[in-house]
Amino acid sequence: MKFTFSDEEEAFRAEVKEFLKDYQDLNGFFDQGHDWPSVREFFKAMAAKGYLSVCWPEEYGGLNKSASYEYIVWDEVAYARCARPPLGPGIVAKTIIRYGDDEQKKRWLKPLRDGEMHFSLAYSEPEAGSDLASVRCRAELKGDKYIVNGQKCWQSYAQDMDYFWLLCRTGTQESRGRGCSLMIVPKDAPGITVAPLPLMDDDQLNEVFFDNVEIPVNQRIGPENGAWKLMNAALADERHIQFPPSRLRRDLEDVISWTRDQGLLDDPVVRNTLGDLASQVLEGEVLGLSVLDAMMRGEHGVMEAAANKVAQTISCQNIARAVTEFGGPESLVKGTLSELIWRQSMWETIGGGTSEIMRGVIARNSLGLVAKT
Ligand SMILES: Cc1cc2nc3c(=O)[nH]c(=O)nc-3n(C[C@H](O)[C@H](O)[C@H](O)COP(=O)(O)OP(=O)(O)OC[C@H]3O[C@@H](n4cnc5c(N)ncnc54)[C@H](O)[C@@H]3O)c2cc1C
Repeated sequence: MKFTFSDEEEAFRAEVKEFLKDYQDLNGFFDQGHDWPSVREFFKAMAAKGYLSVCWPEEYGGLNKSASYEYIVWDEVAYARCARPPLGPGIVAKTIIRYGDDEQKKRWLKPLRDGEMHFSLAYSEPEAGSDLASVRCRAELKGDKYIVNGQKCWQSYAQDMDYFWLLCRTGTQESRGRGCSLMIVPKDAPGITVAPLPLMDDDQLNEVFFDNVEIPVNQRIGPENGAWKLMNAALADERHIQFPPSRLRRDLEDVISWTRDQGLLDDPVVRNTLGDLASQVLEGEVLGLSVLDAMMRGEHGVMEAAANKVAQTISCQNIARAVTEFGGPESLVKGTLSELIWRQSMWETIGGGTSEIMRGVIARNSLGLVAKT
């Protein structure tokens, strides 16, 4: 496995860091819901540099770079805490590039690349989270339109987004994953209601209700009932940027500087804990690189990505818990660093697939119960 980047990649990293200097006060990684207009402007500025389309082919206006460049961009953005990777230029655009027809590419790719069109992921439902193949939100084809009825829940940022990337049932319930399709649904389509679900960290998820929502058939991406293959391909295209390890490094650096300010840095128990956390940060970096390494070798990195997700999300909770333990009374004061990162880190082991599901993926792959991918 390669632990270092080339000179050209490091020069690109320096360029990204320089760009990010203007956005040091943007806190979109933890708090996008409260400052969406600024995050939206940030994405536009990223788009102008080509950073939203790093791996897209040149013919669609991308930089046509390898996954390592995209990894560098989102790792540095996570360290700066500016934002998380947006869904539109990521999963949505990459799926359209792979599976969309010419008319769909012409219609959707440019605004996605330019950071002008933003999406919320409408996969989960009240009874379908880990087991997505059981989704019930149904789309019936009537003439040249689908009529969509049903409910989704836990949609991140839906309150601010322009479109949904909707997973819906077009086949029978029994056909599970073989009876689902993917569609682009404008959030302002008649019949859609978005209702907030407050999060512990003061951000917001949403429930989304579809009541006879009409979607033109040309907004279905890929074949009818073909969603599973598209979703797997999209996941494979994005694994290297989902959990950037520099988020952990930044959390730990902030905790160390807070510990120093509190005069706690000479406490042997505190030092011992910080040493342990530093090794978890390094472990996170190795696991993040192992995902990238697998992808650069042309593998899918399924097991590596699952291991990375479990380790990164548990380590960020460990870092947050340690500062809560060092912090004493301050950790109970709303708005302090120690208190915020603890509340925020709680959901990381659930969103994007729970730790139990990830451990199942690791076990099945490492025990050879499925073909290694
Ligand atoms: C902050 C956040 C943001 C999210 N954003 C989005 C979004 O934008 N769009 C979207 O569609 N969804 C989103 N989700 C939903 C997320 O994908 C689901 O919450 C997650 O997949 C778990 O599904 P669930 O909540 O239905 O729990 P369930 O699947 O009901 O799981 C409940 C418990 O059972 C365990 N469990 C379930 N199945 C198994 C199994 N086979 N083996 C072992 N244990 C199992 C789980 O690990 C968990 O502990 C978000 C969730 C969070 C917390």
